[in-house]
Amino acid sequence: MTERLAVRADLFDFPEDPGWQVEAPAAVRYLPDHWLLVEDGRIAGTRPGTEAPGPGWRCIDHRGRLLLPGFIDTHVHAPQLDVIASYGTELLEWLNTYTFPAECKYADPAEAERGSALFLDALLASGTTAAAVFPTVHKVSAEALFAAAAQRHMRVLAGKVLMDRHAPDGLRDDVAQAERDCVDLIERWHGRGRVAYAVTPRFAATSTREQLAMAGRLCAAYPDVYMQTHVAENRSEVRWMAELFPEARSHLDIYVRHGLMTPRSLFAHGIWLDDTDRAVLREAGASIAFCPSSNMFIGSGLFDWGRTEGQGVAVHLASDVGGGTSLSMLRTIADGYKVLALQGQKLTAWKALYTATHGAARHLRLSHEIGHLSPGTLADFVVWDWAQGPVARRRIEVARDLHERVFAWMTLGDERNVVSTWVAGQERYRRPE
Ligand SMILES: [Zn+2]
Repeated sequence: MTERLAVRADLFDFPEDPGWQVEAPAAVRYLPDHWLLVEDGRIAGTRPGTEAPGPGWRCIDHRGRLLLPGFIDTHVHAPQLDVIASYGTELLEWLNTYTFPAECKYADPAEAERGSALFLDALLASGTTAAAVFPTVHKVSAEALFAAAAQRHMRVLAGKVLMDRHAPDGLRDDVAQAERDCVDLIERWHGRGRVAYAVTPRFAATSTREQLAMAGRLCAAYPDVYMQTHVAENRSEVRWMAELFPEARSHLDIYVRHGLMTPRSLFAHGIWLDDTDRAVLREAGASIAFCPSSNMFIGSGLFDWGRTEGQGVAVHLASDVGGGTSLSMLRTIADGYKVLALQGQKLTAWKALYTATHGAARHLRLSHEIGHLSPGTLADFVVWDWAQGPVARRRIEVARDLHERVFAWMTLGDERNVVSTWVAGQERYRRPE
């Protein structure tokens, strides 16, 4: 029997890239007071709020609330919830002082299982329904994350982190064992339900040339897996890369030399790239995850979105928790606005929300499945309050047009605005009364 669900709210999504303009009528689809119709977990259509669907439909009335596709966080670390908001360090010191000790715990299957469940539930409670995730170097951490994602039917990209040097005991693998683990995980998990494998070298400094080459071989052997890593995040890190790999032209070039530049490659940060690097990314069809909260919090630098996209490189948005200080993509976007403002650029509400939904889905080659509210896609969506608290309520109330209203929602909102989160038509989070 077909399962029929209808949710009434202000429906909002982005069929096209709005570009950088506030005037982008074709790209912005806003249906105030409409029903979103869902059949067997997939979006079936919409209809005006006054035309309730008949018997046989489970109807949920969220009139006066906003409904958007679930956000897609394209770079985040599951085990780093334990070190979010840690004081006083830049990247390399931050890794050694906080992150590596926290990641060591994930050798324990029970800890990996507990952490993965907490992490995915926290994503859902923040309004994020899909993510590209780093677990730890331990195979069991990837297993636990995949299992937790499958249980929730969430779209998750992840892979065992590869690191065979410059990390403490208990947090290093070796080339042969890592290869066996990756192959086993790919064979067992990639494409199973909504889980996809991503070959995941942490960054070039924590892998030997041999390990990076092995990672490249995996990408070649399994061309539909993803590849995720960090690039050009911080100036000391970039200098260190130049010492470790004197033969490479740049940090990015290290990945190119080892076969890690594919159309399914996601590079976090990319702050300290040059025009040649960007041309390489564009030609490969690879993309950059912009992590504004993290970039400011650990003092990495200001990512130039305008220049990057101007040179044809795809950009998406990411929390990068625990370097970032919130899993909320609204907070991430608000930080992104500030990073661009410091460089004389303006991030419209449309561009930001498109990028965190449909834009990310396109770059991940998943727009047939997620990112918008078009019929046939899976019903991953979030119901939001327009405002929480008197200040936001007043600001929303006096907004003169839709962009102003949505911009205020986006800038003042966070996980407290999330009313409920749905994955493939199932409610996976509901705000406590
Ligand atoms: Zn990261």
